[in-house]
Amino acid sequence: MLKIDNLHVRVGDKDILKGLTLEVRPGEVHAIMGPNGAGKSTLGYVLAGREGYEVTAGSIRYEGRDLLALAPEARAAEGLFLAFQYPVEIPGVNNTYFLRAALNAQRKYRGEPELDSMQFLKLVREKLSVLHIKDELLHRAVNEGFSGGEKKRNEIFQLAVLEPKLAILDETDSGLDIDALKLVAEGVNLMRDPKRAFLVITHYQRLLDYIKPDVVHVLADGRIVESGGPALAQELEQHGYAWVKERIAPEA
Ligand code: ADP
Ligand code: MG
Ligand code: MG
Repeated sequence: MLKIDNLHVRVGDKDILKGLTLEVRPGEVHAIMGPNGAGKSTLGYVLAGREGYEVTAGSIRYEGRDLLALAPEARAAEGLFLAFQYPVEIPGVNNTYFLRAALNAQRKYRGEPELDSMQFLKLVREKLSVLHIKDELLHRAVNEGFSGGEKKRNEIFQLAVLEPKLAILDETDSGLDIDALKLVAEGVNLMRDPKRAFLVITHYQRLLDYIKPDVVHVLADGRIVESGGPALAQELEQHGYAWVKERIAPEA
């Protein structure tokens, strides 16, 4: 589904990703962990096609195609979802309206008929019920005045409605209480599907107490320096990132 090979990314005049290689298959949940400043968010932004992130070497294939050749809108329409690290507030724009516009833009791009408000409402009701989310979120402006937990809830709601093939969740974890983390985890677990993959970016191990990833990667200094099963996350929690650095570059 996703094949990243020797990816190098520069932001401004700084090389951030320095030869990152990663492969994700449908149905898999991959966790990307790593110290602050390692390049985790940069990876998410490059995948989403954010401006200012220059790929200087390497490749990204998504479902066999060159992802970097696709415009950001095309990537979203092709099933890529990036839950932003700091979700934007759009005062005055109704959350439901916003989400319907986003979904219909994607459907239009794919040549599928757009949903009218009745059809969309039906879809929304289904999703809310599956996720056990109250509908008060629908009537508010996008993220305006949302608490951290409400933003997370909205993120998962967006994910459920847009039904992406590859969802990238970038969790700083900072400021998120355990309930919000559980909510994200529960959403991911409910959305798990043999055809869908997740890339869960996180600084701390505790999110992974609730999401059981198939593969855990450690990103340090712009590269994946270690990959393993869920046990790797536990080891990191116990020994910290210095432990990984020692194992990777004992001379450093
Ligand atoms: P992480 O998410 O792992 O904490 P980031 O991807 O946010 O790491 O950042 C990696 C490095 O890139 C950091 O050293 C950060 O300061 C730098 N960086 C990120 N965004 C920018 C930017 N827009 N301009 C300059 N440097 C940046
Ligand atoms: Mg950071
Ligand atoms: Mg980050």
